[in-house]
Amino acid sequence: MSDLQPVIGLEIHLQLKTKTKMFCACASGEQEASANSLICPVCTSQPGALPVINEKAVELGAKAALAINCNIEPYSIFARKNYFYPDLPKSYQISQFEKPLAQNGHIKIETPDGEKKIGIERAHLEEDAGKSLHAIGSKDLDYTLIDLNRAGIPLLEIVSAPDMNSPEEAYTYLAELKKTIQWLGVSNCDMEKGELRCDVNISLKPKEATELGKKVEIKNLNSFKAVKDSIFYEIARQTDIIKSGKIVLSDTRLWDDKEEETYSMRSKETANDYRYFPDPDLVSLKFSDEYASKIKNSLGELPQQKKTRFIEQYALNNYDANLLTANKNLSSYFEDCVKLGGEPKISANLIATELMGRLNADKLEIKDCPITPQYIAELAQLLKSGKISNTISKQVMDKIWEKPSSPKELIETSGMSQVSDENQIREWAKEALSKNPKAIEDFKNGNEKAIGPIMGMIMKKSKGKANPKITNSIIKALIQRLGDKSKS
Ligand SMILES: [Zn+2]
Repeated sequence: MSDLQPVIGLEIHLQLKTKTKMFCACASGEQEASANSLICPVCTSQPGALPVINEKAVELGAKAALAINCNIEPYSIFARKNYFYPDLPKSYQISQFEKPLAQNGHIKIETPDGEKKIGIERAHLEEDAGKSLHAIGSKDLDYTLIDLNRAGIPLLEIVSAPDMNSPEEAYTYLAELKKTIQWLGVSNCDMEKGELRCDVNISLKPKEATELGKKVEIKNLNSFKAVKDSIFYEIARQTDIIKSGKIVLSDTRLWDDKEEETYSMRSKETANDYRYFPDPDLVSLKFSDEYASKIKNSLGELPQQKKTRFIEQYALNNYDANLLTANKNLSSYFEDCVKLGGEPKISANLIATELMGRLNADKLEIKDCPITPQYIAELAQLLKSGKISNTISKQVMDKIWEKPSSPKELIETSGMSQVSDENQIREWAKEALSKNPKAIEDFKNGNEKAIGPIMGMIMKKSKGKANPKITNSIIKALIQRLGDKSKS
Protein backbone atom coordinates (compact mmCIF):
# COMPACT_ATOMS: atom_id res chain seq x y z
CA MET A 1 0.00 0.00 0.00
CA SER A 2 1.23 3.44 -0.87
CA ASP A 3 2.04 6.04 1.74
CA LEU A 4 -0.92 7.69 3.42
CA GLN A 5 -1.08 11.43 3.72
CA PRO A 6 -3.09 13.21 6.44
CA VAL A 7 -5.37 16.02 5.23
CA ILE A 8 -6.31 18.43 7.98
CA GLY A 9 -8.61 21.42 8.25
CA LEU A 10 -9.42 23.46 11.36
CA GLU A 11 -12.61 25.19 12.45
CA ILE A 12 -11.90 27.82 15.05
CA HIS A 13 -14.49 29.52 17.23
CA LEU A 14 -13.37 32.86 18.63
CA GLN A 15 -15.23 34.76 21.30
CA LEU A 16 -15.41 38.36 20.13
CA LYS A 17 -14.48 40.98 22.70
CA THR A 18 -17.73 42.94 22.91
CA LYS A 19 -19.41 44.47 25.96
CA THR A 20 -22.77 42.91 25.12
CA LYS A 21 -24.06 39.74 23.48
CA MET A 22 -24.60 39.14 19.75
CA PHE A 23 -28.33 39.87 19.64
CA CYS A 24 -29.28 41.44 23.00
CA ALA A 25 -27.96 43.94 25.55
CA CYS A 26 -26.87 41.39 28.17
CA ALA A 27 -23.25 41.63 29.32
CA SER A 28 -20.91 39.36 27.38
CA GLY A 29 -17.94 37.41 28.62
CA GLU A 30 -18.36 37.86 32.37
CA GLN A 31 -16.58 34.84 33.80
CA GLU A 32 -17.26 35.62 37.45
CA ALA A 33 -21.02 36.19 37.21
CA SER A 34 -23.29 33.70 39.00
CA ALA A 35 -25.18 31.25 36.81
CA ASN A 36 -28.10 32.63 34.79
CA SER A 37 -27.54 36.20 36.00
CA LEU A 38 -26.68 37.60 32.54
CA ILE A 39 -29.80 36.68 30.64
CA CYS A 40 -32.87 38.30 29.13
CA PRO A 41 -35.94 37.26 27.09
CA VAL A 42 -33.87 37.29 23.87
CA CYS A 43 -31.00 35.02 24.90
CA THR A 44 -33.33 32.67 26.78
CA SER A 45 -35.66 32.60 23.74
CA GLN A 46 -38.91 33.74 25.29
CA PRO A 47 -41.77 33.75 22.80
CA GLY A 48 -42.03 37.05 20.96
CA ALA A 49 -38.57 38.32 21.91
CA LEU A 50 -36.71 39.75 18.92
CA PRO A 51 -32.94 39.73 18.33
CA VAL A 52 -31.04 42.87 17.24
CA ILE A 53 -27.57 42.63 15.63
CA ASN A 54 -24.65 43.94 17.71
CA GLU A 55 -22.80 46.36 15.41
CA LYS A 56 -19.54 46.07 17.39
CA ALA A 57 -19.51 42.29 16.92
CA VAL A 58 -19.88 42.75 13.17
CA GLU A 59 -17.04 45.28 13.15
CA LEU A 60 -14.71 43.00 15.16
CA GLY A 61 -15.60 40.05 12.94
CA ALA A 62 -14.85 42.07 9.82
CA LYS A 63 -11.56 43.23 11.33
CA ALA A 64 -10.44 39.66 12.06
CA ALA A 65 -11.57 38.48 8.62
CA LEU A 66 -9.62 41.21 6.83
CA ALA A 67 -6.52 40.51 8.92
CA ILE A 68 -6.52 36.92 7.64
CA ASN A 69 -6.86 38.19 4.07
CA CYS A 70 -10.55 37.36 3.54
CA ASN A 71 -12.90 39.40 1.37
CA ILE A 72 -15.81 40.96 3.20
CA GLU A 73 -18.92 39.91 1.27
CA PRO A 74 -21.05 42.87 0.13
CA TYR A 75 -24.15 40.99 1.29
CA SER A 76 -24.45 38.45 4.10
CA ILE A 77 -27.33 37.01 6.08
CA PHE A 78 -27.95 35.18 9.34
CA ALA A 79 -29.46 31.70 9.20
CA ARG A 80 -31.03 29.35 11.70
CA LYS A 81 -29.12 26.16 12.34
CA ASN A 82 -31.72 23.80 13.75
CA TYR A 83 -30.84 21.23 16.37
CA PHE A 84 -31.98 20.38 19.85
CA TYR A 85 -29.80 20.53 22.90
CA PRO A 86 -30.83 21.43 26.48
CA ASP A 87 -28.48 24.45 26.55
CA LEU A 88 -30.03 25.82 23.36
CA PRO A 89 -33.62 26.75 24.34
CA LYS A 90 -34.54 28.16 20.90
CA SER A 91 -33.75 24.77 19.36
CA TYR A 92 -31.76 26.61 16.76
CA GLN A 93 -28.53 28.56 16.79
CA ILE A 94 -28.29 31.81 14.86
CA SER A 95 -25.33 31.41 12.53
CA GLN A 96 -24.46 32.14 8.92
CA PHE A 97 -24.59 29.54 6.21
CA GLU A 98 -25.04 30.33 2.52
CA LYS A 99 -24.00 33.96 2.81
CA PRO A 100 -21.19 34.29 5.34
CA LEU A 101 -19.57 37.55 6.44
CA ALA A 102 -16.28 36.86 4.66
CA GLN A 103 -14.59 34.31 2.38
CA ASN A 104 -11.40 33.33 0.57
CA GLY A 105 -8.57 34.29 2.91
CA HIS A 106 -5.25 32.73 3.86
CA ILE A 107 -2.55 32.64 6.51
CA LYS A 108 1.11 32.00 5.78
CA ILE A 109 2.92 29.57 8.05
CA GLU A 110 6.54 28.50 8.29
CA THR A 111 7.28 24.81 7.76
CA PRO A 112 10.58 22.90 7.51
CA ASP A 113 10.07 23.00 3.71
CA GLY A 114 9.58 26.77 3.66
CA GLU A 115 6.59 29.08 3.70
CA LYS A 116 3.16 27.54 3.13
CA LYS A 117 -0.15 29.25 2.44
CA ILE A 118 -3.10 27.82 4.35
CA GLY A 119 -6.38 28.80 2.73
CA ILE A 120 -9.32 30.10 4.73
CA GLU A 121 -12.65 29.19 3.20
CA ARG A 122 -14.89 31.40 5.26
CA ALA A 123 -15.36 33.45 8.42
CA HIS A 124 -18.89 33.80 9.77
CA LEU A 125 -20.65 35.27 12.76
CA GLU A 126 -22.78 33.25 15.15
CA GLU A 127 -23.96 33.08 18.71
CA ASP A 128 -22.71 30.75 21.40
CA ALA A 129 -24.96 28.23 23.15
CA GLY A 130 -25.37 27.97 26.92
CA LYS A 131 -23.46 25.62 29.14
CA SER A 132 -24.55 22.25 30.49
CA LEU A 133 -23.13 21.35 33.88
CA HIS A 134 -23.31 17.61 34.26
CA ALA A 135 -23.32 16.46 37.86
CA ILE A 136 -23.26 12.81 36.94
CA GLY A 137 -21.08 10.35 38.80
CA SER A 138 -22.57 10.40 42.29
CA LYS A 139 -25.80 8.64 43.33
CA ASP A 140 -27.34 11.83 44.68
CA LEU A 141 -26.19 14.07 41.86
CA ASP A 142 -27.48 12.46 38.74
CA TYR A 143 -28.73 15.54 36.92
CA THR A 144 -27.64 18.32 34.59
CA LEU A 145 -27.84 22.07 35.25
CA ILE A 146 -28.10 24.70 32.55
CA ASP A 147 -26.35 28.08 32.68
CA LEU A 148 -27.40 30.48 29.92
CA ASN A 149 -24.90 33.29 30.68
CA ARG A 150 -22.91 32.17 27.66
CA ALA A 151 -25.95 31.82 25.39
CA GLY A 152 -25.82 34.54 22.75
CA ILE A 153 -22.17 35.54 23.20
CA PRO A 154 -20.79 36.60 19.78
CA LEU A 155 -18.47 34.16 18.04
CA LEU A 156 -16.53 34.28 14.82
CA GLU A 157 -16.06 30.89 13.21
CA ILE A 158 -13.03 30.64 10.94
CA VAL A 159 -12.97 27.61 8.65
CA SER A 160 -9.67 26.72 7.02
CA ALA A 161 -9.27 24.83 3.78
CA PRO A 162 -8.01 21.23 4.20
CA ASP A 163 -4.50 22.48 3.45
CA MET A 164 -2.53 21.09 6.40
CA ASN A 165 -0.74 17.76 6.26
CA SER A 166 0.75 17.24 9.71
CA PRO A 167 0.06 17.90 13.40
CA GLU A 168 2.90 20.46 13.35
CA GLU A 169 1.32 22.42 10.50
CA ALA A 170 -2.02 22.51 12.30
CA TYR A 171 -0.26 23.70 15.45
CA THR A 172 1.63 26.44 13.62
CA TYR A 173 -1.50 27.60 11.79
CA LEU A 174 -3.40 27.83 15.08
CA ALA A 175 -0.53 29.74 16.72
CA GLU A 176 -0.28 32.18 13.82
CA LEU A 177 -4.03 32.76 13.79
CA LYS A 178 -4.15 33.27 17.56
CA LYS A 179 -1.25 35.73 17.41
CA THR A 180 -2.95 37.83 14.73
CA ILE A 181 -6.32 37.88 16.50
CA GLN A 182 -4.81 38.79 19.87
CA TRP A 183 -2.70 41.45 18.18
CA LEU A 184 -5.88 43.10 16.87
CA GLY A 185 -7.59 42.94 20.27
CA VAL A 186 -10.58 41.27 18.62
CA SER A 187 -10.57 38.38 21.10
CA ASN A 188 -8.55 37.43 24.18
CA CYS A 189 -8.22 33.91 22.75
CA ASP A 190 -7.85 32.38 26.21
CA MET A 191 -8.34 28.69 25.44
CA GLU A 192 -8.77 27.74 29.10
CA LYS A 193 -11.73 30.11 29.34
CA GLY A 194 -13.23 28.76 26.13
CA GLU A 195 -12.61 32.00 24.23
CA LEU A 196 -10.89 30.03 21.50
CA ARG A 197 -12.16 26.54 20.66
CA CYS A 198 -10.92 24.35 17.91
CA ASP A 199 -12.48 21.52 15.91
CA VAL A 200 -10.21 19.38 13.76
CA ASN A 201 -11.29 17.71 10.51
CA ILE A 202 -8.95 14.95 9.47
CA SER A 203 -8.82 12.25 6.85
CA LEU A 204 -6.12 10.14 5.22
CA LYS A 205 -5.60 9.48 1.53
CA PRO A 206 -2.94 7.80 -0.61
CA LYS A 207 -0.31 10.46 -1.21
CA GLU A 208 -0.87 10.70 -4.95
CA ALA A 209 -4.71 10.59 -4.78
CA THR A 210 -6.65 13.80 -5.43
CA GLU A 211 -9.88 12.62 -3.84
CA LEU A 212 -10.10 13.11 -0.08
CA GLY A 213 -10.71 10.22 2.31
CA LYS A 214 -13.56 9.86 4.82
CA LYS A 215 -13.49 12.83 7.17
CA VAL A 216 -13.52 12.50 10.95
CA GLU A 217 -14.20 15.52 13.15
CA ILE A 218 -12.65 15.97 16.59
CA LYS A 219 -14.70 18.52 18.50
CA ASN A 220 -14.07 21.13 21.17
CA LEU A 221 -10.31 20.97 21.64
CA ASN A 222 -9.29 23.50 24.24
CA SER A 223 -5.49 23.53 24.16
CA PHE A 224 -2.70 23.56 21.59
CA LYS A 225 -1.44 20.31 23.05
CA ALA A 226 -4.82 18.64 22.64
CA VAL A 227 -4.95 19.74 18.99
CA LYS A 228 -1.52 18.29 18.24
CA ASP A 229 -1.92 15.11 20.31
CA SER A 230 -5.39 14.28 18.99
CA ILE A 231 -4.20 14.64 15.38
CA PHE A 232 -1.25 12.31 16.07
CA TYR A 233 -3.65 9.83 17.60
CA GLU A 234 -6.15 10.02 14.73
CA ILE A 235 -3.43 9.56 12.10
CA ALA A 236 -2.33 6.36 13.85
CA ARG A 237 -5.90 5.12 14.38
CA GLN A 238 -7.03 5.76 10.80
CA THR A 239 -3.80 4.31 9.37
CA ASP A 240 -4.45 1.06 11.26
CA ILE A 241 -8.04 0.87 9.99
CA ILE A 242 -7.09 1.52 6.37
CA LYS A 243 -4.09 -0.84 6.42
CA SER A 244 -6.26 -3.64 7.80
CA GLY A 245 -8.53 -3.21 4.79
CA LYS A 246 -11.44 -1.64 6.65
CA ILE A 247 -13.17 1.69 6.07
CA VAL A 248 -12.89 4.72 8.37
CA LEU A 249 -16.32 5.77 9.63
CA SER A 250 -17.16 9.43 9.21
CA ASP A 251 -17.96 10.35 12.78
CA THR A 252 -17.68 13.14 15.31
CA ARG A 253 -15.23 12.34 18.06
CA LEU A 254 -14.06 13.80 21.36
CA TRP A 255 -10.53 13.88 22.76
CA ASP A 256 -9.87 12.35 26.16
CA ASP A 257 -6.92 14.20 27.68
CA LYS A 258 -6.27 11.58 30.34
CA GLU A 259 -6.50 8.47 28.18
CA GLU A 260 -4.89 10.33 25.28
CA GLU A 261 -7.32 8.94 22.74
CA THR A 262 -10.35 10.04 20.73
CA TYR A 263 -13.71 8.32 21.12
CA SER A 264 -16.81 8.45 18.98
CA MET A 265 -19.58 10.81 20.09
CA ARG A 266 -22.02 10.42 17.18
CA SER A 267 -22.07 9.84 13.47
CA LYS A 268 -21.16 13.02 11.65
CA GLU A 269 -24.04 15.29 10.74
CA THR A 270 -24.18 16.98 7.36
CA ALA A 271 -25.49 20.46 6.56
CA ASN A 272 -28.80 18.88 5.50
CA ASP A 273 -29.40 17.62 9.03
CA TYR A 274 -29.56 21.19 10.30
CA ARG A 275 -32.25 22.43 7.89
CA TYR A 276 -30.64 25.85 7.64
CA PHE A 277 -32.86 28.73 6.51
CA PRO A 278 -32.53 32.53 6.63
CA ASP A 279 -33.57 33.98 9.99
CA PRO A 280 -36.71 36.05 9.30
CA ASP A 281 -36.21 38.08 12.50
CA LEU A 282 -32.92 39.65 11.40
CA VAL A 283 -31.97 42.15 8.73
CA SER A 284 -29.27 41.26 6.23
CA LEU A 285 -25.80 42.83 6.37
CA LYS A 286 -24.75 45.02 3.48
CA PHE A 287 -21.22 46.35 3.24
CA SER A 288 -19.95 49.08 0.97
CA ASP A 289 -16.39 48.99 -0.34
CA GLU A 290 -15.74 52.09 1.77
CA TYR A 291 -16.72 50.26 4.95
CA ALA A 292 -14.35 47.40 4.18
CA SER A 293 -11.46 49.73 3.31
CA LYS A 294 -12.10 51.85 6.42
CA ILE A 295 -11.77 48.74 8.59
CA LYS A 296 -8.77 47.54 6.60
CA ASN A 297 -7.02 50.86 7.20
CA SER A 298 -7.66 50.57 10.94
CA LEU A 299 -5.76 47.27 11.19
CA GLY A 300 -2.30 48.85 11.39
CA GLU A 301 0.85 46.81 10.89
CA LEU A 302 0.13 43.11 11.46
CA PRO A 303 2.64 40.66 13.00
CA GLN A 304 3.79 39.10 9.71
CA GLN A 305 4.30 42.53 8.11
CA LYS A 306 6.17 43.73 11.17
CA LYS A 307 8.37 40.66 11.16
CA THR A 308 9.33 41.23 7.53
CA ARG A 309 10.10 44.87 8.28
CA PHE A 310 12.23 43.97 11.32
CA ILE A 311 14.33 41.65 9.16
CA GLU A 312 14.77 44.26 6.42
CA GLN A 313 15.11 47.42 8.49
CA TYR A 314 17.13 46.11 11.45
CA ALA A 315 18.92 43.15 9.82
CA LEU A 316 17.51 40.78 12.44
CA ASN A 317 17.55 37.05 11.82
CA ASN A 318 14.31 35.12 11.37
CA TYR A 319 14.38 33.72 14.91
CA ASP A 320 14.76 37.09 16.63
CA ALA A 321 12.21 38.76 14.33
CA ASN A 322 9.73 35.99 15.11
CA LEU A 323 10.31 36.25 18.81
CA LEU A 324 10.05 40.06 18.88
CA THR A 325 6.75 40.02 17.01
CA ALA A 326 5.17 37.39 19.25
CA ASN A 327 2.91 40.12 20.59
CA LYS A 328 2.28 43.81 20.11
CA ASN A 329 3.76 44.94 23.45
CA LEU A 330 7.01 43.08 22.88
CA SER A 331 7.49 44.52 19.40
CA SER A 332 6.85 48.06 20.72
CA TYR A 333 9.32 47.47 23.54
CA PHE A 334 12.01 46.49 21.05
CA GLU A 335 11.35 49.45 18.78
CA ASP A 336 11.44 51.79 21.79
CA CYS A 337 14.92 50.46 22.64
CA VAL A 338 16.06 51.18 19.10
CA LYS A 339 14.52 54.67 19.11
CA LEU A 340 16.38 55.39 22.35
CA GLY A 341 19.70 54.59 20.71
CA GLY A 342 20.12 50.86 21.28
CA GLU A 343 21.83 49.12 18.36
CA PRO A 344 19.06 46.88 16.90
CA LYS A 345 20.90 43.54 16.88
CA ILE A 346 22.41 43.98 20.34
CA SER A 347 19.05 45.17 21.73
CA ALA A 348 17.30 42.19 20.14
CA ASN A 349 19.86 39.85 21.70
CA LEU A 350 19.49 41.42 25.12
CA ILE A 351 15.71 41.09 24.93
CA ALA A 352 15.74 37.56 23.51
CA THR A 353 18.25 36.09 25.93
CA GLU A 354 18.55 38.23 29.05
CA LEU A 355 15.12 39.81 29.33
CA MET A 356 12.82 37.00 28.14
CA GLY A 357 14.59 34.48 30.35
CA ARG A 358 14.02 36.61 33.43
CA LEU A 359 10.42 37.46 32.48
CA ASN A 360 9.60 33.78 31.95
CA ALA A 361 11.25 32.72 35.20
CA ASP A 362 9.21 35.29 37.14
CA LYS A 363 6.06 34.61 35.04
CA LEU A 364 5.85 38.25 33.99
CA GLU A 365 4.63 39.73 30.75
CA ILE A 366 6.55 42.38 28.88
CA LYS A 367 4.04 45.05 29.90
CA ASP A 368 4.98 44.38 33.54
CA CYS A 369 8.72 44.37 32.88
CA PRO A 370 10.60 46.30 35.58
CA ILE A 371 13.40 47.24 33.17
CA THR A 372 12.49 50.12 30.85
CA PRO A 373 13.51 50.20 27.16
CA GLN A 374 15.79 53.13 28.11
CA TYR A 375 17.91 50.82 30.27
CA ILE A 376 18.18 48.15 27.56
CA ALA A 377 19.20 50.88 25.09
CA GLU A 378 21.94 52.05 27.50
CA LEU A 379 23.16 48.51 28.01
CA ALA A 380 23.29 47.99 24.25
CA GLN A 381 25.36 51.17 23.89
CA LEU A 382 27.79 50.07 26.61
CA LEU A 383 28.24 46.72 24.88
CA LYS A 384 28.70 48.26 21.48
CA SER A 385 31.35 50.72 22.67
CA GLY A 386 33.25 47.89 24.36
CA LYS A 387 32.96 49.50 27.79
CA ILE A 388 31.52 46.27 29.14
CA SER A 389 31.75 42.62 28.15
CA ASN A 390 28.89 40.15 27.80
CA THR A 391 29.77 38.78 31.23
CA ILE A 392 29.47 42.21 32.81
CA SER A 393 26.27 42.87 30.92
CA LYS A 394 24.75 39.77 32.52
CA GLN A 395 25.82 41.01 35.96
CA VAL A 396 24.28 44.42 35.23
CA MET A 397 21.04 42.74 34.16
CA ASP A 398 20.96 40.81 37.45
CA LYS A 399 21.42 44.02 39.39
CA ILE A 400 18.89 46.16 37.51
CA TRP A 401 16.36 43.31 37.47
CA GLU A 402 16.45 43.34 41.28
CA LYS A 403 16.52 47.11 41.55
CA PRO A 404 15.75 49.00 38.32
CA SER A 405 18.34 51.71 37.67
CA SER A 406 20.39 53.16 34.84
CA PRO A 407 23.12 50.76 33.62
CA LYS A 408 25.33 53.74 32.71
CA GLU A 409 25.23 55.10 36.23
CA LEU A 410 25.67 51.64 37.69
CA ILE A 411 28.83 51.03 35.63
CA GLU A 412 30.28 54.42 36.60
CA THR A 413 29.60 54.08 40.31
CA SER A 414 30.38 50.39 40.79
CA GLY A 415 33.61 50.07 38.81
CA MET A 416 32.15 47.28 36.71
CA SER A 417 33.43 48.57 33.43
CA GLN A 418 35.68 46.42 31.32
CA VAL A 419 39.43 46.29 31.93
CA SER A 420 41.31 47.09 28.75
CA ASP A 421 44.59 47.92 30.46
CA GLU A 422 47.09 45.68 28.63
CA ASN A 423 49.64 45.58 31.44
CA GLN A 424 47.03 44.41 33.90
CA ILE A 425 45.71 41.77 31.51
CA ARG A 426 49.26 40.59 30.65
CA GLU A 427 49.94 40.01 34.34
CA TRP A 428 46.77 37.94 34.72
CA ALA A 429 47.63 36.02 31.56
CA LYS A 430 51.18 35.21 32.71
CA GLU A 431 49.84 33.88 35.98
CA ALA A 432 47.20 31.74 34.23
CA LEU A 433 49.74 30.36 31.72
CA SER A 434 52.23 29.44 34.43
CA LYS A 435 49.55 27.22 35.96
CA ASN A 436 48.65 25.58 32.64
CA PRO A 437 51.72 24.25 30.83
CA LYS A 438 49.57 21.58 29.15
CA ALA A 439 47.29 24.19 27.58
CA ILE A 440 50.35 25.93 26.13
CA GLU A 441 51.59 22.66 24.67
CA ASP A 442 48.15 21.83 23.21
CA PHE A 443 47.80 25.26 21.66
CA LYS A 444 51.22 25.03 20.08
CA ASN A 445 50.23 21.66 18.63
CA GLY A 446 47.39 23.34 16.81
CA ASN A 447 44.51 22.97 19.27
CA GLU A 448 43.00 26.47 19.20
CA LYS A 449 40.47 25.49 21.84
CA ALA A 450 43.21 24.97 24.43
CA ILE A 451 43.11 28.70 25.02
CA GLY A 452 39.63 28.35 26.59
CA PRO A 453 40.67 27.36 30.13
CA ILE A 454 43.30 30.16 30.22
CA MET A 455 40.62 32.64 29.19
CA GLY A 456 38.33 31.23 31.87
CA MET A 457 40.96 31.71 34.59
CA ILE A 458 41.57 35.31 33.58
CA MET A 459 37.86 36.05 33.52
CA LYS A 460 37.52 34.54 36.97
CA LYS A 461 40.45 36.53 38.29
CA SER A 462 39.15 39.78 36.75
CA LYS A 463 35.57 39.08 37.86
CA GLY A 464 34.53 39.04 34.21
CA LYS A 465 35.98 42.47 33.53
CA ALA A 466 38.90 41.61 31.26
CA ASN A 467 38.27 42.77 27.70
CA PRO A 468 37.89 39.42 25.86
CA LYS A 469 39.36 40.63 22.58
CA ILE A 470 42.50 42.12 24.12
CA THR A 471 42.86 39.15 26.49
CA ASN A 472 42.70 36.72 23.62
CA SER A 473 45.44 38.44 21.64
CA ILE A 474 47.65 38.83 24.70
CA ILE A 475 47.39 35.11 25.52
CA LYS A 476 48.29 34.20 21.94
CA ALA A 477 51.23 36.62 21.90
CA LEU A 478 52.56 35.24 25.19
CA ILE A 479 52.35 31.63 24.01
CA GLN A 480 54.11 32.63 20.80
CA ARG A 481 56.91 34.23 22.79
CA LEU A 482 57.27 31.19 25.06
CA GLY A 483 57.54 29.04 21.95
CA ASP A 484 60.24 31.27 20.46
CA LYS A 485 62.20 31.18 23.72
CA SER A 486 62.14 27.37 23.91
CA LYS A 487 63.49 27.17 20.35
CA SER A 488 66.43 29.48 21.01
ZN1 LIG B 1 -29.85 38.60 26.71
